[in-house]
Amino acid sequence: MSVCPLSPKLSPTAPIPGSPTTPDPLHGSFRSSRNRAHAEEAERRAQSLFADTQLTQLLNAPSSRPSTLSRARDIFVNRNLRMSGIELVGFDMDYTLAIYHMRRLEQLAYDMTLAKLISERGYPPVIGHLQYDHHFVMRGLAVDRANGNLLKMDRFGYVGRAWHGMRPLQRETWHALYRNQRVRLKDPRFAWIDTLFALPEAWLFAGIIELLESLGQRVDYGRLYDDIRTAIDEVHRDNSLKREVRKDLSRYVFQDPELGPALHKLRSGGKRLFLLTNSAWDYTDAVMRYLLDGQMAEYASWRNYFDYVVTLAAKPAFFAEQRPFLELEVAGPGEEARVLGEATSLERGKVYQGGNLVQFEQYTHRAGECILYVGDHIFGDILKSKKTSLWRTCMIVQEIEDELTYTEGQRERISELSEVELTRERLDEAVADHKGLLNALDRRLERGELEPEDQEEVEAERRRIKAELDKLRWALREATEIADTLEREVEEGFNPYWGLLFKEGSENSRFGEQVERYACLYTSRVSNFLHDSPLQYYRSPRDLMPHEQAGAWSAKLSPEGGEGPAPGDG
Ligand SMILES: [Mg+2]
Repeated sequence: MSVCPLSPKLSPTAPIPGSPTTPDPLHGSFRSSRNRAHAEEAERRAQSLFADTQLTQLLNAPSSRPSTLSRARDIFVNRNLRMSGIELVGFDMDYTLAIYHMRRLEQLAYDMTLAKLISERGYPPVIGHLQYDHHFVMRGLAVDRANGNLLKMDRFGYVGRAWHGMRPLQRETWHALYRNQRVRLKDPRFAWIDTLFALPEAWLFAGIIELLESLGQRVDYGRLYDDIRTAIDEVHRDNSLKREVRKDLSRYVFQDPELGPALHKLRSGGKRLFLLTNSAWDYTDAVMRYLLDGQMAEYASWRNYFDYVVTLAAKPAFFAEQRPFLELEVAGPGEEARVLGEATSLERGKVYQGGNLVQFEQYTHRAGECILYVGDHIFGDILKSKKTSLWRTCMIVQEIEDELTYTEGQRERISELSEVELTRERLDEAVADHKGLLNALDRRLERGELEPEDQEEVEAERRRIKAELDKLRWALREATEIADTLEREVEEGFNPYWGLLFKEGSENSRFGEQVERYACLYTSRVSNFLHDSPLQYYRSPRDLMPHEQAGAWSAKLSPEGGEGPAPGDG
């Protein structure tokens, strides 16, 4: 075996040998592809495509999308979705087709739950004085049932913000409880506030702990949370909440004048539509009448927009279990439906309840990727349908409009912040460099081998470097403080307790991560579909790795996502 007599050396400036000019590269082959001739032909065709003046005129023609429509109304894409391949589009109702006036609905649910806690669960009447503050809660928080805390996590599940009662958690307690622990939402110790319906329960948990502990009472956190859940579930289950909403729909539900036209546009694009809601028929009918009846002359009733109407669907069980479809006999407005019996088909114009995914696909003769389901609940509507079927998903996140409008207004502050952060990174490097130089000079001086004049020169150099290092360290502290203050200002300007919905510090929030992971599309409201073609190809912008963000040219390949499915597409 021959041994190479010399160790190979790396150049301090050139990359590890692998470039197209090295005769024997370690990485890559750098040969012309076998289809070089095809590539040259494609380059020629690209030039004539760019030079086609008629095409340029066509592309520069004004878009049908209103120029006044804000970016907050866009449909955002996590996974490529070709609408031309979608044959059935399904919708959840609550918080999806029906956008509620959050503050009013939360207040109503809160008042009713609080009354139940006092009258049926033995809580002291003093809790009746608590005042609901809707700013204190947002979607995506977790309740720590063991320690009585509300938490917001980053995408890895690490706790970024924590409150006990109405106070931020002490730093030492935060360290002891969460520093080295990720919040796993499967752990029964934690409950995830993942729907807008659940916001009042998070507030009640914090508010009651704050009040009772300030009165010197010991609180069993787990029991308190279970009691709140039971009370709020009853308010939903016994229909008392929905009865109140129905009495005054205009107080609680927004009417979106673009909803009917958006559904109509999808239908005109050849899609069949269906409604799949957990609400019962009488409530569904009342809300849907309010939302859609009379909006478009072509549709005498809201039911004409939909080919299939399924109520009391019991999602997420709908996606996993085998409940039968029941056909309903529905009478006039406000009247309860009567079950006629088990259905063996789904027909336009009829109303059903219950059901399951398998039979739905069987009865509609459509399955998997040609079905798009639009819902607002990450678990019940999106995650579960994603895990048990191949349905494509669109998540309605109504908060996007507020968050995007807010961050748009903070544009100047945010660019200043990012400039300070880049300066901080450079300062960090400069401090490390100077420390290294200072150490090297110290070692020379410590060895004591210098001639007197050299000694003096090195000492002078050391003084200069030390002064520069002091200056750099001061600037680094200053930049860190400025960045922290500006970041806090931006985040807490949106929500003083929890910051931005989709971010936690510099990471995506756990909620943001779940939206990104499970929803193919996400948008603020259903009517945003009005401004796109029903045959639109929604392309996901490519994920860039850090080396691509730093300028690698591979980042320029398919910046808007390729023609094929994105990784994890499904
Ligand atoms: Mg819903």
